[in-house]
Amino acid sequence: MPKTSTDDRAWIAEAIRRVEADANRSADTHLHALEIATPGVDLYLKDESVHPTGSLKHRLARSLFLHALCNGWIRPGAPVVEASSGSTAVSEAYFARLVGLPFVAVMPASTSREKIALIEWYGGRCHFVDSPSAVYDEARRVAEECGGHYMDQFTYAERATDWRGNNNIAESIFEQMAAERHPVPTWVVVSAGTGGTSATIGRFLRYRRHPTQLLVADPEGSAFLDGWEQDVSDVVTGTASRIEGIGRPRVEPSFVGGVIDDMLRVPDAASIATMRWTSDRLGRLVGGSTGTNVWASLTVASRMREAGQDGSIVTLLCDGGERYLSTYYDDAWLAERGLDLAPWTERLQEYEATGLLPQIV
Ligand SMILES: *Cc1c(COP(=O)(O)O)cnc(C)c1O
Repeated sequence: MPKTSTDDRAWIAEAIRRVEADANRSADTHLHALEIATPGVDLYLKDESVHPTGSLKHRLARSLFLHALCNGWIRPGAPVVEASSGSTAVSEAYFARLVGLPFVAVMPASTSREKIALIEWYGGRCHFVDSPSAVYDEARRVAEECGGHYMDQFTYAERATDWRGNNNIAESIFEQMAAERHPVPTWVVVSAGTGGTSATIGRFLRYRRHPTQLLVADPEGSAFLDGWEQDVSDVVTGTASRIEGIGRPRVEPSFVGGVIDDMLRVPDAASIATMRWTSDRLGRLVGGSTGTNVWASLTVASRMREAGQDGSIVTLLCDGGERYLSTYYDDAWLAERGLDLAPWTERLQEYEATGLLPQIV
């Protein structure tokens, strides 16, 4: 990287001001209490769908832009390029426009129409690859070709965010829980795409010396769970996750296994059935990974009940369901993919009747 000129330095300062001013205009996200059938256990959903770009990737994109700007990696006029399964690209397209830079998203061809439309609406360009494992090299190549910067969320997510606090998602959750009957959660339940959110929350729990445990739910075909169980980082499945935003074909560099207390595999049909179940109970449409999170949270609630333990569980509403009307909310789309929700909907009904979610065997 060449040294920053005085002109570039002034441009960087203005870009940082715009990103900070945007944060200053934004409000914190809500923490909804969701009534569940397990007495003594309270479940909360941190609603990350209410960010200006509709998902928890708004926080990540802001952090990545500030990190890259302060490092001198983003220069006036140079395009920002990202490898993404969609949501990060939507949020980065927003910040690229805010600071006045071109944006290119390198994404799997399977990315939802709704997300592509959003990226283009923010002025971004979409570049497609067939295999989900091809996004990394292709994004690097595109950045070199156009003299741009490859943002590389999968490497930098865990370090671009200040895990000690600075109003990160973990600090916000603990502040919002302060007046609840169980203010310190027994469990926080999340899922992993970059792994950045679980790294931030897990480190914060340890740094603040909370007894709270962290569970990460993983969808079908994802490398994270095997990598965590075997304590290795070279697991490669090569398969695309059907739950957008989470589950990866390789263990991403931002996945910090050492801060995770437990992991759970959640079948895709269970995630989607629980997504619909949650939307009905909450009165707002949630996305697929929120279904994964809530299935895992109800599993944890059932285990707590069996152990005679009271307490609270906090999980994330990662994005809204409007982005998935032509996929997870479309019965024909599910049927084409052989996804049968009925057995999982029945288990959820049994949960409502008994307060115990039948476990997967
Ligand atoms: C990225 C993402 C996640 C996971 O967050 P990470 O911090 O990247 O691990 C969950 N749900 C959705 C919809 C996402 O886009």
